[in-house]
Amino acid sequence: LVHSGEAVRRTLHNRIQELRGTIRVVARVRPLLSGDSDEAHASGVNFRFGLDKLSLELKDSQHRFAFDQVFGESASQSEVFDEVANFVQSALDGYSVNLFAYGQTGSGKTHTMQGEVTGDGRGIIPRAIAHIMTEVDRLADQGWAYTMKATFVEIYNETIRDLLRDPSTPMDALPKIGIRHGDGITTLIGANDAIVSSAADIVGLMERANENRSVAATSMNAHSSRSHSVFSLHLTGVNAESGEALQGVLNLCDLAGSERLAKSKATGDRLKETQAINKSLSALSDIFVALSSNSSHVPYRNSKLTYLLQNAFAGQGKSLMIVNLSPSIDSRGESLCSLRFASKVHNTDLGKAKKHVAAAPGAKRTRPSTALGVRTANGS
Ligand code: ADP
Ligand code: MG
Repeated sequence: LVHSGEAVRRTLHNRIQELRGTIRVVARVRPLLSGDSDEAHASGVNFRFGLDKLSLELKDSQHRFAFDQVFGESASQSEVFDEVANFVQSALDGYSVNLFAYGQTGSGKTHTMQGEVTGDGRGIIPRAIAHIMTEVDRLADQGWAYTMKATFVEIYNETIRDLLRDPSTPMDALPKIGIRHGDGITTLIGANDAIVSSAADIVGLMERANENRSVAATSMNAHSSRSHSVFSLHLTGVNAESGEALQGVLNLCDLAGSERLAKSKATGDRLKETQAINKSLSALSDIFVALSSNSSHVPYRNSKLTYLLQNAFAGQGKSLMIVNLSPSIDSRGESLCSLRFASKVHNTDLGKAKKHVAAAPGAKRTRPSTALGVRTANGS
Protein backbone atom coordinates (compact mmCIF):
# COMPACT_ATOMS: atom_id res chain seq x y z
CA LEU A 1 0.00 0.00 0.00
CA VAL A 2 2.21 2.71 -1.34
CA HIS A 3 -0.14 5.57 -0.53
CA SER A 4 -1.48 4.44 2.84
CA GLY A 5 0.46 7.07 4.77
CA GLU A 6 -0.91 9.71 2.55
CA ALA A 7 -4.43 8.37 2.93
CA VAL A 8 -4.16 8.78 6.68
CA ARG A 9 -2.74 12.27 6.28
CA ARG A 10 -5.52 13.31 3.94
CA THR A 11 -8.26 11.83 6.07
CA LEU A 12 -6.83 13.58 9.10
CA HIS A 13 -6.52 16.83 7.22
CA ASN A 14 -10.12 16.68 6.05
CA ARG A 15 -11.28 15.91 9.57
CA ILE A 16 -9.47 18.99 10.82
CA GLN A 17 -11.05 21.07 8.08
CA GLU A 18 -14.47 19.80 9.07
CA LEU A 19 -13.89 20.62 12.71
CA ARG A 20 -12.85 24.12 11.79
CA GLY A 21 -16.03 24.66 9.86
CA THR A 22 -16.58 24.82 6.17
CA ILE A 23 -15.78 28.44 5.43
CA ARG A 24 -12.29 29.86 5.35
CA VAL A 25 -11.57 33.52 4.80
CA VAL A 26 -8.16 34.80 3.75
CA ALA A 27 -7.01 38.32 2.94
CA ARG A 28 -4.58 39.37 0.22
CA VAL A 29 -3.09 42.86 -0.08
CA ARG A 30 -1.70 43.61 -3.52
CA PRO A 31 1.45 45.70 -4.00
CA LEU A 32 1.25 49.41 -4.71
CA LEU A 33 1.25 50.00 -8.46
CA SER A 34 2.59 53.01 -10.27
CA GLY A 35 -0.95 54.06 -11.17
CA ASP A 36 -2.03 54.27 -7.52
CA SER A 37 -2.43 57.84 -6.46
CA ASP A 38 -0.87 57.71 -3.07
CA GLU A 39 1.41 60.27 -1.54
CA ALA A 40 2.87 57.52 0.59
CA HIS A 41 4.04 55.87 -2.59
CA ALA A 42 6.16 58.87 -3.51
CA SER A 43 7.65 59.00 -0.03
CA GLY A 44 8.51 55.34 -0.22
CA VAL A 45 6.22 54.40 2.66
CA ASN A 46 4.11 51.91 0.85
CA PHE A 47 2.34 50.05 3.53
CA ARG A 48 -0.93 51.13 4.95
CA PHE A 49 -1.61 47.88 6.68
CA GLY A 50 0.05 46.19 9.57
CA LEU A 51 -0.23 42.49 9.03
CA ASP A 52 0.94 39.17 10.25
CA LYS A 53 0.00 35.70 9.09
CA LEU A 54 -3.39 35.71 10.75
CA SER A 55 -4.47 39.29 11.17
CA LEU A 56 -4.49 42.60 9.49
CA GLU A 57 -4.70 46.11 10.91
CA LEU A 58 -5.66 49.31 9.18
CA LYS A 59 -2.89 51.41 10.66
CA ASP A 60 -4.53 54.81 10.84
CA SER A 61 -7.74 53.57 12.41
CA GLN A 62 -6.34 50.63 14.35
CA HIS A 63 -9.15 48.43 13.16
CA ARG A 64 -7.88 44.88 13.42
CA PHE A 65 -9.33 41.87 11.67
CA ALA A 66 -8.47 38.20 12.12
CA PHE A 67 -8.43 35.76 9.22
CA ASP A 68 -7.43 32.18 8.50
CA GLN A 69 -4.47 33.50 6.52
CA VAL A 70 -3.19 36.91 5.44
CA PHE A 71 -1.05 37.45 2.35
CA GLY A 72 1.01 40.62 1.97
CA GLU A 73 2.22 42.34 -1.16
CA SER A 74 5.12 39.98 -1.65
CA ALA A 75 3.00 36.81 -1.63
CA SER A 76 3.37 34.91 -4.89
CA GLN A 77 0.60 33.34 -6.92
CA SER A 78 2.01 29.98 -5.97
CA GLU A 79 1.80 30.70 -2.21
CA VAL A 80 -1.80 31.79 -2.61
CA PHE A 81 -2.59 28.62 -4.54
CA ASP A 82 -1.05 26.49 -1.78
CA GLU A 83 -3.67 27.94 0.55
CA VAL A 84 -6.53 26.80 -1.69
CA ALA A 85 -5.04 23.52 -2.97
CA ASN A 86 -6.96 21.51 -0.36
CA PHE A 87 -10.21 22.93 -1.59
CA VAL A 88 -9.33 21.97 -5.13
CA GLN A 89 -8.49 18.50 -3.86
CA SER A 90 -11.88 18.32 -2.14
CA ALA A 91 -13.62 18.62 -5.51
CA LEU A 92 -11.76 15.49 -6.62
CA ASP A 93 -12.95 13.80 -3.44
CA GLY A 94 -16.56 14.48 -4.39
CA TYR A 95 -17.24 17.73 -2.56
CA SER A 96 -18.80 20.83 -4.02
CA VAL A 97 -16.54 23.79 -3.42
CA ASN A 98 -17.00 27.54 -3.80
CA LEU A 99 -14.02 29.88 -3.97
CA PHE A 100 -14.66 33.63 -4.08
CA ALA A 101 -12.48 36.63 -4.79
CA TYR A 102 -14.11 39.64 -3.14
CA GLY A 103 -13.04 43.28 -3.17
CA GLN A 104 -13.27 46.64 -4.87
CA THR A 105 -12.34 47.07 -8.54
CA GLY A 106 -8.56 47.13 -8.92
CA SER A 107 -7.85 45.22 -5.70
CA GLY A 108 -6.52 42.11 -7.48
CA LYS A 109 -9.49 39.74 -7.80
CA THR A 110 -8.89 38.82 -11.42
CA HIS A 111 -5.14 38.64 -10.86
CA THR A 112 -5.80 36.19 -8.01
CA MET A 113 -8.41 34.05 -9.78
CA GLN A 114 -7.15 34.12 -13.32
CA GLY A 115 -3.82 35.93 -13.47
CA GLU A 116 -1.59 35.03 -16.37
CA VAL A 117 -2.59 32.09 -18.52
CA THR A 118 0.87 30.51 -18.30
CA GLY A 119 4.02 30.86 -16.19
CA ASP A 120 4.60 32.06 -12.61
CA GLY A 121 1.86 34.67 -12.88
CA ARG A 122 -0.81 32.00 -13.31
CA GLY A 123 -3.74 32.49 -10.99
CA ILE A 124 -5.98 29.99 -9.24
CA ILE A 125 -7.96 28.81 -12.29
CA PRO A 126 -4.99 27.59 -14.39
CA ARG A 127 -3.18 26.27 -11.32
CA ALA A 128 -6.29 24.39 -10.17
CA ILE A 129 -6.59 22.72 -13.55
CA ALA A 130 -2.91 21.75 -13.55
CA HIS A 131 -3.20 20.38 -10.00
CA ILE A 132 -6.30 18.37 -10.88
CA MET A 133 -4.65 16.91 -13.99
CA THR A 134 -1.69 15.69 -11.94
CA GLU A 135 -4.01 14.16 -9.35
CA VAL A 136 -6.17 12.54 -12.02
CA ASP A 137 -3.09 10.81 -13.42
CA ARG A 138 -2.11 9.61 -9.96
CA LEU A 139 -5.61 8.38 -9.12
CA ALA A 140 -5.77 6.51 -12.43
CA ASP A 141 -3.23 4.08 -10.96
CA GLN A 142 -5.81 3.27 -8.30
CA GLY A 143 -8.58 2.57 -10.78
CA TRP A 144 -10.21 6.00 -10.86
CA ALA A 145 -11.27 7.49 -14.17
CA TYR A 146 -12.36 11.12 -14.17
CA THR A 147 -14.20 13.18 -16.73
CA MET A 148 -14.13 16.94 -16.45
CA LYS A 149 -16.37 19.56 -17.94
CA ALA A 150 -15.98 23.30 -17.57
CA THR A 151 -18.54 26.07 -17.78
CA PHE A 152 -17.65 29.74 -17.59
CA VAL A 153 -20.38 32.34 -17.21
CA GLU A 154 -20.81 35.88 -16.01
CA ILE A 155 -23.75 37.30 -14.14
CA TYR A 156 -24.52 40.87 -15.11
CA ASN A 157 -27.62 42.66 -13.81
CA GLU A 158 -29.01 39.30 -12.72
CA THR A 159 -28.67 37.91 -16.25
CA ILE A 160 -26.37 34.98 -16.97
CA ARG A 161 -24.10 35.18 -20.04
CA ASP A 162 -22.03 32.36 -21.42
CA LEU A 163 -18.33 33.26 -21.62
CA LEU A 164 -17.65 30.15 -23.71
CA ARG A 165 -20.07 31.13 -26.47
CA ASP A 166 -18.99 31.65 -30.06
CA PRO A 167 -17.64 35.24 -29.90
CA SER A 168 -19.27 36.07 -33.23
CA THR A 169 -22.76 35.67 -31.74
CA PRO A 170 -24.39 39.12 -31.77
CA MET A 171 -25.18 40.43 -28.29
CA ASP A 172 -28.88 40.63 -29.07
CA ALA A 173 -28.97 36.99 -30.18
CA LEU A 174 -27.54 35.54 -26.97
CA PRO A 175 -29.60 32.67 -25.61
CA LYS A 176 -31.19 33.06 -22.21
CA ILE A 177 -29.35 30.88 -19.73
CA GLY A 178 -31.17 29.17 -16.92
CA ILE A 179 -30.13 27.29 -13.78
CA ARG A 180 -31.49 23.85 -13.06
CA HIS A 181 -30.88 21.83 -9.91
CA GLY A 182 -31.67 18.15 -9.97
CA ASP A 183 -30.26 15.17 -8.10
CA GLY A 184 -27.64 17.39 -6.52
CA ILE A 185 -26.31 18.45 -9.89
CA THR A 186 -26.46 22.01 -11.11
CA THR A 187 -26.90 22.52 -14.84
CA LEU A 188 -26.64 25.75 -16.77
CA ILE A 189 -29.25 25.40 -19.48
CA GLY A 190 -28.15 27.00 -22.73
CA ALA A 191 -24.47 27.45 -21.78
CA ASN A 192 -21.64 25.64 -23.55
CA ASP A 193 -19.61 23.21 -21.57
CA ALA A 194 -16.13 22.21 -22.58
CA ILE A 195 -14.51 18.87 -21.94
CA VAL A 196 -11.19 19.47 -20.19
CA SER A 197 -8.70 16.71 -20.75
CA SER A 198 -5.35 18.43 -20.37
CA ALA A 199 -3.93 21.40 -18.51
CA ALA A 200 -3.39 23.13 -21.86
CA ASP A 201 -7.15 23.15 -22.55
CA ILE A 202 -7.58 25.96 -20.05
CA VAL A 203 -5.60 28.34 -22.24
CA GLY A 204 -8.19 28.22 -25.02
CA LEU A 205 -11.08 28.55 -22.56
CA MET A 206 -9.61 31.60 -20.89
CA GLU A 207 -8.84 33.23 -24.23
CA ARG A 208 -12.37 32.67 -25.43
CA ALA A 209 -13.81 34.08 -22.18
CA ASN A 210 -11.61 37.17 -22.46
CA GLU A 211 -12.64 37.65 -26.06
CA ASN A 212 -16.32 37.43 -25.13
CA ARG A 213 -15.79 39.90 -22.32
CA SER A 214 -14.14 42.45 -24.56
CA VAL A 215 -16.80 42.06 -27.25
CA ALA A 216 -19.39 42.85 -24.62
CA ALA A 217 -17.36 45.75 -23.25
CA THR A 218 -17.38 47.73 -26.49
CA SER A 219 -21.07 47.25 -27.08
CA MET A 220 -22.30 47.81 -23.58
CA ASN A 221 -19.94 49.78 -21.36
CA ALA A 222 -16.92 48.22 -19.74
CA HIS A 223 -18.79 45.99 -17.37
CA SER A 224 -16.38 43.22 -16.43
CA SER A 225 -15.90 44.83 -13.01
CA ARG A 226 -19.67 45.14 -12.73
CA SER A 227 -20.34 41.45 -13.26
CA HIS A 228 -19.57 38.24 -11.38
CA SER A 229 -17.75 35.59 -13.33
CA VAL A 230 -18.08 31.96 -12.34
CA PHE A 231 -15.76 29.28 -13.69
CA SER A 232 -17.06 25.82 -12.77
CA LEU A 233 -15.29 22.54 -13.18
CA HIS A 234 -17.56 19.51 -12.88
CA LEU A 235 -15.68 16.33 -12.01
CA THR A 236 -17.09 12.86 -12.30
CA GLY A 237 -14.99 10.01 -10.98
CA VAL A 238 -15.69 6.32 -11.40
CA ASN A 239 -13.67 3.50 -9.95
CA ALA A 240 -14.07 0.44 -12.14
CA GLU A 241 -12.38 -1.80 -9.54
CA SER A 242 -14.44 -0.87 -6.49
CA GLY A 243 -17.58 0.30 -8.28
CA GLU A 244 -17.45 3.62 -6.43
CA ALA A 245 -18.50 6.82 -8.13
CA LEU A 246 -18.36 10.44 -7.09
CA GLN A 247 -19.22 13.87 -8.31
CA GLY A 248 -17.50 17.08 -7.32
CA VAL A 249 -17.74 20.67 -8.45
CA LEU A 250 -15.23 23.46 -8.15
CA ASN A 251 -16.74 26.92 -8.56
CA LEU A 252 -14.21 29.74 -8.90
CA CYS A 253 -15.92 33.11 -8.60
CA ASP A 254 -14.44 36.49 -9.48
CA LEU A 255 -17.04 38.74 -7.89
CA ALA A 256 -18.18 42.14 -9.14
CA GLY A 257 -16.38 45.12 -7.63
CA SER A 258 -17.75 45.71 -4.15
CA GLU A 259 -17.22 49.50 -4.23
CA ARG A 260 -20.13 51.72 -3.38
CA LEU A 261 -21.08 54.33 -5.86
CA ALA A 262 -21.80 57.81 -4.51
CA LYS A 263 -25.60 57.94 -4.39
CA SER A 264 -25.75 61.16 -6.37
CA LYS A 265 -23.74 59.62 -9.23
CA ALA A 266 -25.82 56.49 -9.56
CA THR A 267 -28.44 57.04 -12.22
CA GLY A 268 -29.75 55.03 -15.15
CA ASP A 269 -27.69 51.97 -16.07
CA ARG A 270 -25.14 52.63 -13.34
CA LEU A 271 -27.86 52.65 -10.73
CA LYS A 272 -29.28 49.40 -12.06
CA GLU A 273 -25.84 47.75 -12.04
CA THR A 274 -25.10 48.98 -8.54
CA GLN A 275 -28.41 47.70 -7.24
CA ALA A 276 -27.83 44.30 -8.85
CA ILE A 277 -24.34 44.04 -7.32
CA ASN A 278 -25.46 45.17 -3.87
CA LYS A 279 -28.35 42.73 -3.99
CA SER A 280 -26.21 39.74 -4.92
CA LEU A 281 -23.33 40.51 -2.55
CA SER A 282 -25.70 40.98 0.36
CA ALA A 283 -27.51 37.81 -0.68
CA LEU A 284 -24.13 36.07 -0.44
CA SER A 285 -23.48 37.26 3.09
CA ASP A 286 -27.08 36.37 4.04
CA ILE A 287 -26.33 32.76 3.08
CA PHE A 288 -23.38 32.57 5.47
CA VAL A 289 -25.42 34.14 8.24
CA ALA A 290 -28.38 31.78 7.66
CA LEU A 291 -26.13 28.71 7.61
CA SER A 292 -24.25 29.71 10.75
CA SER A 293 -27.46 30.33 12.68
CA ASN A 294 -28.80 26.98 11.49
CA SER A 295 -31.79 28.76 10.07
CA SER A 296 -34.35 26.46 8.48
CA HIS A 297 -34.63 28.84 5.54
CA VAL A 298 -31.49 29.62 3.57
CA PRO A 299 -32.39 32.27 1.00
CA TYR A 300 -30.53 30.87 -2.01
CA ARG A 301 -33.09 32.21 -4.44
CA ASN A 302 -32.51 35.86 -3.59
CA SER A 303 -29.87 36.21 -6.32
CA LYS A 304 -28.70 34.34 -9.39
CA LEU A 305 -25.25 34.00 -7.84
CA THR A 306 -26.39 32.27 -4.66
CA TYR A 307 -28.92 30.16 -6.53
CA LEU A 308 -26.26 28.97 -8.96
CA LEU A 309 -23.87 28.08 -6.13
CA GLN A 310 -26.35 26.66 -3.64
CA ASN A 311 -25.20 23.04 -3.80
CA ALA A 312 -21.74 23.94 -2.59
CA PHE A 313 -23.13 25.84 0.42
CA ALA A 314 -25.41 23.07 1.54
CA GLY A 315 -24.59 19.78 3.19
CA GLN A 316 -20.90 19.04 3.04
CA GLY A 317 -20.00 21.83 0.66
CA LYS A 318 -17.00 24.00 1.39
CA SER A 319 -16.37 27.66 0.77
CA LEU A 320 -13.35 29.91 0.81
CA MET A 321 -13.33 33.65 0.35
CA ILE A 322 -10.29 35.67 -0.58
CA VAL A 323 -10.75 39.32 0.30
CA ASN A 324 -8.54 41.35 -2.01
CA LEU A 325 -7.29 44.72 -0.83
CA SER A 326 -5.55 47.67 -2.43
CA PRO A 327 -2.91 49.40 -0.29
CA SER A 328 -3.70 52.81 -1.79
CA ILE A 329 -4.71 55.60 0.61
CA ASP A 330 -7.61 56.41 -1.70
CA SER A 331 -8.97 52.93 -1.13
CA ARG A 332 -8.97 53.19 2.64
CA GLY A 333 -12.74 53.51 2.98
CA GLU A 334 -13.41 50.63 0.60
CA SER A 335 -10.78 48.48 2.30
CA LEU A 336 -12.53 48.98 5.61
CA CYS A 337 -15.85 47.98 4.03
CA SER A 338 -14.28 44.88 2.46
CA LEU A 339 -12.68 43.88 5.74
CA ARG A 340 -15.97 44.31 7.57
CA PHE A 341 -17.77 42.17 4.99
CA ALA A 342 -15.10 39.50 5.21
CA SER A 343 -15.12 39.40 8.98
CA LYS A 344 -18.89 39.07 8.95
CA VAL A 345 -18.44 36.00 6.75
CA HIS A 346 -15.51 34.74 8.82
CA ASN A 347 -17.15 35.02 12.23
CA THR A 348 -19.87 32.66 11.23
CA ASP A 349 -19.09 29.16 12.32
CA LEU A 350 -20.42 26.81 9.69
CA GLY A 351 -19.14 23.88 11.74
CA LYS A 352 -22.35 24.14 13.73
CA ALA A 353 -24.41 24.00 10.58
CA LYS A 354 -22.76 20.94 9.12
CA LYS A 355 -25.88 18.84 9.24
CA HIS A 356 -27.75 21.47 7.35
CA VAL A 357 -29.47 20.32 4.19
CA ALA A 358 -30.71 22.85 1.68
CA ALA A 359 -34.40 23.53 1.88
CA ALA A 360 -34.55 23.97 -1.87
CA PRO A 361 -35.43 20.88 -3.88
CA GLY A 362 -32.69 18.95 -5.60
CA ALA A 363 -29.93 20.03 -3.26
CA LYS A 364 -29.39 16.60 -1.77
CA ARG A 365 -26.01 15.05 -2.28
CA THR A 366 -25.53 12.24 -4.71
CA ARG A 367 -22.13 10.98 -3.67
CA PRO A 368 -22.89 7.28 -3.60
CA SER A 369 -20.45 6.31 -0.88
CA THR A 370 -19.59 8.09 2.33
CA ALA A 371 -17.10 10.90 2.10
CA LEU A 372 -14.66 9.02 4.27
CA GLY A 373 -15.00 5.87 2.22
CA VAL A 374 -14.30 7.76 -0.95
CA ARG A 375 -11.29 9.54 0.44
CA THR A 376 -9.83 6.35 1.80
CA ALA A 377 -10.35 4.66 -1.51
CA ASN A 378 -8.74 7.60 -3.30
CA GLY A 379 -5.66 7.60 -1.18
CA SER A 380 -5.05 3.95 -0.50
P1 ADP B 1 -9.77 43.50 -9.97
O1 ADP B 1 -10.05 42.28 -10.76
O2 ADP B 1 -10.05 43.35 -8.50
O3 ADP B 1 -10.47 44.71 -10.52
P2 ADP B 1 -7.11 43.22 -11.03
O4 ADP B 1 -6.86 41.79 -10.70
O5 ADP B 1 -7.47 43.54 -12.41
O6 ADP B 1 -8.21 43.83 -10.04
O7 ADP B 1 -5.83 44.03 -10.55
C1 ADP B 1 -5.66 45.41 -10.84
C2 ADP B 1 -4.22 45.62 -11.30
O8 ADP B 1 -3.31 45.27 -10.27
C3 ADP B 1 -3.85 44.75 -12.48
O9 ADP B 1 -3.00 45.49 -13.32
C4 ADP B 1 -3.13 43.58 -11.85
O10 ADP B 1 -2.21 42.99 -12.74
C5 ADP B 1 -2.43 44.24 -10.68
N1 ADP B 1 -2.25 43.33 -9.54
C6 ADP B 1 -3.23 42.86 -8.76
N2 ADP B 1 -2.75 42.07 -7.79
C7 ADP B 1 -1.41 42.02 -7.97
C8 ADP B 1 -0.34 41.36 -7.31
N3 ADP B 1 -0.56 40.57 -6.23
N4 ADP B 1 0.91 41.54 -7.78
C9 ADP B 1 1.12 42.32 -8.85
N5 ADP B 1 0.17 42.97 -9.53
C10 ADP B 1 -1.11 42.84 -9.10
MG1 MG C 1 -11.36 42.04 -12.35
